[in-house]
Amino acid sequence: MASCPNCYKPMHAQTLDVQLTSHAVDVDACPDCRLLWFDQWESTRLAPRAVLTLFQFIGGATGQSPTPLASRFNCMRCQNALEFTRDRQRTTAFTYWRCSLGHGRLISFNQFLREKNFIRAPSPAELARLRETVKQISCSQCGAPIDLAADSGCSHCGAPIALVDPEGVAKAIRELNSPRSDAQVTGADATRQALSDAQIEALFDRERMRERADHNDLLVVGMRAVSALVGAFLLSR
Ligand SMILES: [Zn+2]
Ligand SMILES: [Zn+2]
Ligand SMILES: [Zn+2]
Repeated sequence: MASCPNCYKPMHAQTLDVQLTSHAVDVDACPDCRLLWFDQWESTRLAPRAVLTLFQFIGGATGQSPTPLASRFNCMRCQNALEFTRDRQRTTAFTYWRCSLGHGRLISFNQFLREKNFIRAPSPAELARLRETVKQISCSQCGAPIDLAADSGCSHCGAPIALVDPEGVAKAIRELNSPRSDAQVTGADATRQALSDAQIEALFDRERMRERADHNDLLVVGMRAVSALVGAFLLSR
């Protein structure tokens, strides 16, 4: 069994379909460290259903406090040092660590969500409302506290504040359907609205804010709410 390159505990294996082929691919995940390992196959080639299945997995598996990440990792196959890599798909920039011998790549949950356009910065209106109600949140990358009144990102690791992007998730759900009909395009608006409502409701849930005043990871809260709906969509298609 594969062990996590950060905490060395056994990783959870997820079997997913790869696009353009009938291949299934194993993706290893460590929810504690919020890391994914892709063997050979790049995450850019995952079919929409596989991407949404991973989204749902991340939403359900992510705990409240991330294990801090080391600055260097070794390949799970050859033990060589992984190379830190900056990549770009269309206008989206993201980072990961890859084996120079092509054994695979290690990517954080956050960077995977970024690559798939599943997260975005809060709008000015959302940020104003968050400053009023939540005040302090915790960084979804390193767990450090972020004071919303003073900071617009994590002063410890530099990660920006991120929320689930209902637009991006609705687009992936739309791609499950082919060919597209007018009814499905109208349905996509309803899907986006439902995802957006689920996130807003979770973010501004007064009970949750009272319980977790010192530990508010907005991305985890939003992911949990939205991924429950994504699971329902996957079952219905
Ligand atoms: Zn780990
Ligand atoms: Zn390797
Ligand atoms: Zn941080």
